[in-house]
Amino acid sequence: MRIIIFGPPGAGKGTQAKLISREYDIPHLSTGELFRSEIRNNTELGKKIKSTMNAGNLVADEKVVAIVEEELKKNKYKNGYILDGFPRTVPQAKAFDEILEKKDNELNIFLKLVVPEEELVNRILTRGEGRSDDTPKKVKNRLQIYRRETQPVLNYYEQKNIIKEIDGVGSIEKIFCRIKEAL
Ligand code: ADP
Repeated sequence: MRIIIFGPPGAGKGTQAKLISREYDIPHLSTGELFRSEIRNNTELGKKIKSTMNAGNLVADEKVVAIVEEELKKNKYKNGYILDGFPRTVPQAKAFDEILEKKDNELNIFLKLVVPEEELVNRILTRGEGRSDDTPKKVKNRLQIYRRETQPVLNYYEQKNIIKEIDGVGSIEKIFCRIKEAL
């Protein structure tokens, strides 16, 4: 099964993706985590993207697409995966379609987590993960970028008829139950 989990920053994508990964035995690929690990390991890519990410801005599409394409070549992804944080722009969505086509694979479901904006800001500012991009100013910037760059990705997938809307408000368990029903 190939799944995308989509939603604004703070919607709980990572939390739910981990649960889905365990329940359905498919690897969780989070581009945000991938990039944070590049930064921690001080790799060439990590050095290049550090300031962009710290400011809460998006990493350039070509860098994102290249790393996702490379990562998906690993054997562990051959029977499916859950993507979290990707695609985040329309060009990324188009590039992902090409990656799928090359492999003769298809995307099964697009989970859209719906959470009101006030709740997003609260969650991020109180989650205490210590992320350098979790400050009020940077969160505001990330939400603006979400509206401008990421929301249009929804229109792109709407044409494909694979979107399932999930109410993202409630306990982690309750939201996970809704996701299992949708799957
Ligand atoms: P959140 O959903 O809370 O913003 P993520 O871990 O998904 O957290 O992303 C954190 C940061 O990683 C983003 O603000 C951006 O800088 C970078 N990033 C992650 N995925 C992408 C992507 N697909 N395209 C561009 N930048 C990305």
